[in-house]
Amino acid sequence: MGNIVYGNIISDEIKENIKNFIEMSVKNGNRQPHLVVIMVGDNQASKVYVSGKNKDCMQVGIKNTTLYYDDISEEDLISKIKELNEDKTVDGILIQLPLPSHINKDHIFNILNPQKDVDGFTPLNVGKLYLGQDTFVPCTPKGIIKILEYIGYYDLSGKKAVVIGRSNIVGKPIAQLLLNKNATVTICHSKTQNIIEQVRQADIVVSAMGNAKLIKKDWLKENSIVIDVGINRDENNKLCGDVDLEDVIDKVKYITPVPKGVGLLTRAMLLENTIIAYKNSINNN
Ligand code: NAD
Repeated sequence: MGNIVYGNIISDEIKENIKNFIEMSVKNGNRQPHLVVIMVGDNQASKVYVSGKNKDCMQVGIKNTTLYYDDISEEDLISKIKELNEDKTVDGILIQLPLPSHINKDHIFNILNPQKDVDGFTPLNVGKLYLGQDTFVPCTPKGIIKILEYIGYYDLSGKKAVVIGRSNIVGKPIAQLLLNKNATVTICHSKTQNIIEQVRQADIVVSAMGNAKLIKKDWLKENSIVIDVGINRDENNKLCGDVDLEDVIDKVKYITPVPKGVGLLTRAMLLENTIIAYKNSINNN
């Protein structure tokens, strides 16, 4: 029987450490860390994510300002971001995606101050990740690495990892991070042929495709580690991942559940990235 790795076991400790750090910093006369979240439009899923971020910040003592715009032009949004870029009381700026179609997200991330880019989406920070330099690592891939380290996988030399999905926010950066840890990495996506054959060779599978319970036990190698990033609804409208956990549990060594898995680490990593930005800011001012 495989082990289910619940995210809260890892994220609760990270949040506790952050909370203690902030208390200490404020006691020493520093200001609170400050995260600004920008949301444009009326996307229901985004609203849920943004309110979750708000709650997490409150829990650990990060000041959170959420700027909601029903509608805003690209030009005005750029001016607002430029203002926040310069504001010394703002540590992190997060632009909630997706943005409405009249705003080009590349234009937005091109002007966002990389030192406040707590999602790690600006070109400079993406480039640094690929060069193996210190940078803001996007929250979901960073959280996946925390999970692997928690179960004892620090160095992945000799391990074969298969990532399913090639998005800029999950698939590509997690592939790079696994490579940085010496894994031999294959990226599969919707145009990959014979995907099951690829996945069957993997010691570590990271699935970020968004297909409810598609991965069954015949996809997997015995004793593999399965990180399920997908957030989907099953036939009964219940949240589920890309992996059919009940079907595969006897075959895997470790698996993350959905919900209560990777998502909790994603949330904790946003707090951690905000603290990195905060430390840089208070040390430089
Ligand atoms: P995306 O739609 O940008 O990318 C999905 C990727 O999966 C694409 O590269 C596509 O080629 C690939 N894909 C889709 N169907 C496939 C199939 N049948 N076979 C092989 N490849 C296939 O999505 P994303 O933003 O990367 O998110 C992926 C999933 O992860 C979604 O379910 C999303 O909700 C979830 N997600 C979870 C978290 C978290 O914190 N848990 C964070 C981000 C995304």
